Amino acid sequence: MSTVELRGVSKVHRAERRDTGTGASDGSDVVAVARTDLHLADGEFFVLIGPSGCGKSTLLRLIAGIEPPTTGDVLIDGVAVNDIDPRGRDVAMTFQSSALYPNLTVGENVGFSLRLAKVPRATIRERVREAAALVSIDHLLDRWPRQLSGGEGQRVAMARMLIRSPHLFLMDEPMSQLDAKLRTELRAEIVRLQRRVGVTTVYVTHDQVEAMSMGHRIAVMRRGRIVQCGAPDELYRHPADLFVGQFLGSPPMNAWRALAVADGDGVVLRWMHHELRLDADEVRRFGGTEALHGREVVIGVRPEALHLDATGPLTVSPRFTETLGPHQLLHCTLGAEAVRATDDGLVSADDHHAPIVVAAASSVSFDVWQPLHLGVDVDGIHLFDGEDGRSLEQSVGFGSGPRPTVSAHERRP
Ligand code: ADP
Repeated sequence: MSTVELRGVSKVHRAERRDTGTGASDGSDVVAVARTDLHLADGEFFVLIGPSGCGKSTLLRLIAGIEPPTTGDVLIDGVAVNDIDPRGRDVAMTFQSSALYPNLTVGENVGFSLRLAKVPRATIRERVREAAALVSIDHLLDRWPRQLSGGEGQRVAMARMLIRSPHLFLMDEPMSQLDAKLRTELRAEIVRLQRRVGVTTVYVTHDQVEAMSMGHRIAVMRRGRIVQCGAPDELYRHPADLFVGQFLGSPPMNAWRALAVADGDGVVLRWMHHELRLDADEVRRFGGTEALHGREVVIGVRPEALHLDATGPLTVSPRFTETLGPHQLLHCTLGAEAVRATDDGLVSADDHHAPIVVAAASSVSFDVWQPLHLGVDVDGIHLFDGEDGRSLEQSVGFGSGPRPTVSAHERRP
């Protein structure tokens, strides 16, 4: 088990582009990871999440030692390891594909690293059995990799990691090629296993459900930078910006533009013919009435923070519903300018029919085209800056967040 620290770590790829006309190369740089500071606690399950190309895998490879950083230091247990290769760092990695040796049995694949290290055969057999038992593949040890399902292959890959008792587990989208049901099963297994063996783990994914359900902490990345880092619940409830707000949560947070205007000791949020009033208590977390007055904002409300209420302040037009068993998602439109946070910043819709999704009990019925009135849970209202999308909530933190120590209880529940 180990701590991991990144101090001012960046990675710049020199992209060799050749002009087909002149044959000249312009050597433009790609900043895969911008200057990053991060501290992972011993035994922590840390998830890196973000859209494709945001630098997650690069950050993982820098920790593994597969690539050297352009600037900064990687420290494991407080010691700079920039000059130490992956083997010397004692990290175990898994990838999207389980990458097993096809001409070795499952058992031989699991014990391969010990054979290379010339560990006695009897010890290897014993350790293979132990590792296999941990991920429930005891019955597969004599099979060939081609005889395994995708989920079994990933379990074998995990046993291969576990057998080495490494300092760090690094996992790069290990479940992205599995079907949804298997992913759900394996997700719980990986979490249980990590808590049990307590090995510090960095897990890369673009799946927000995995991130929310697996990590002690999550770092959301965009364009080579960590936008926000913290406990899943903290990021979900207090996103640092609209990008994080809409990246975590499915369906994503509803968002539309409004103007904040002082109204007595509270504020009215106005757009088109609508308004939503926040009283003095409610505006306090956004810095108070004066701070908000005259400001262009984006209102963000998650589907579960909306409810049907005949006296509610929002009037929407229902379009269709998605039934999901215990609840349904009502897809409606609101007369408003919808906003979406993208890699390149905020993008506004050019019509005034903002899509609004409401999570409602499946027993609720409604008529399409018959306007519905919605109430909003006050605690569920987020306000973001209308230009850069930053949260206006006062207490929201950015950066690499707190550095919790993972308790023994959390490790081995
Ligand atoms: P992610 O894992 O989040 O999808 P990556 O870490 O793989 O993202 O890549 C981050 C950025 O760095 C991307 O823009 C990618 O195109 C670029 N990149 C990655 N590896 C190289 C490389 N060897 N040469 C040039 N650019 C690269």
